[in-house]
Amino acid sequence: MPIIDFHTHIFPPEVIARRDTYLERDAWFRLLYARPQARMASADELIAEMNASGVDMAVSFGFAWADPGLCREANEYVLESVSRWPERLLGFAVVNPAVEGAAAELERCMQKGLHGLGELMPEGQGYALDDPCLDEVMQQMAYWKRPVLIHTNEPVGHYYPGKSKSTLQSFYHLAVRHPETTLVAAHWGGGLFFYELMPEVQQALRHVYYDTSASLYLYRDDIFPLAAQIIPQKMLFATDYPLISQGRFLQRIRETDLSADAREALLGGNAARLLHISRLE
Ligand SMILES: [Zn+2]
Repeated sequence: MPIIDFHTHIFPPEVIARRDTYLERDAWFRLLYARPQARMASADELIAEMNASGVDMAVSFGFAWADPGLCREANEYVLESVSRWPERLLGFAVVNPAVEGAAAELERCMQKGLHGLGELMPEGQGYALDDPCLDEVMQQMAYWKRPVLIHTNEPVGHYYPGKSKSTLQSFYHLAVRHPETTLVAAHWGGGLFFYELMPEVQQALRHVYYDTSASLYLYRDDIFPLAAQIIPQKMLFATDYPLISQGRFLQRIRETDLSADAREALLGGNAARLLHISRLE
């Protein structure tokens, strides 16, 4: 079974080199990347990391800019990277659903073979998850049968740059309004998966998956066996690389108390099923 990292960010080398310019062009990007320690990585660096840590495939996307022109540039780089490493990278598109033209750009990316939409950043891009502006892209992704990955975060706990006011309720309502669209809630869904212990919530969220990105900064590692009990087929290994290195993250998962089946499902089995990947099985 392949190891699949479901959440990695890549930037074109020229954006990394001219980071200061982009800090001025996007307020959310500034919030996340103004600190020089906040790492940015190119596709080449991601591939080197995957080779070093034994990750077979990665879902990769650019930054969800507010400006649709910047989203398009990010998508171009993802398309180019996927064509360079078709066996290693699965590209997702970014668009700003609140801005005219999002559906057309998404359609272009889906036709060129990208595998999903995301990571959407509602607060940074200027909409709420219950905003009707999302309806069109959600319907498109239902048609393409490809997932939409959305940033979510815990409603409680410490503040960090990028922690938004977007609520679990608004994500839940989005999922209920679009039962035909597969959703991936980043960062464990901000804890939403706990409520899948309620039968009616489990039913309502049957098409929702949860990625583990940034978990090491947020939760005790006990969350892995806990998730394996509640959402065994819907947990997706994800790092948020380059925020956390893949090797370090994998090591922590190997140290946790998970059955062989649960580990396999987490590290790649669930993602392979969700993305309809068979070539590495
Ligand atoms: Zn995120």
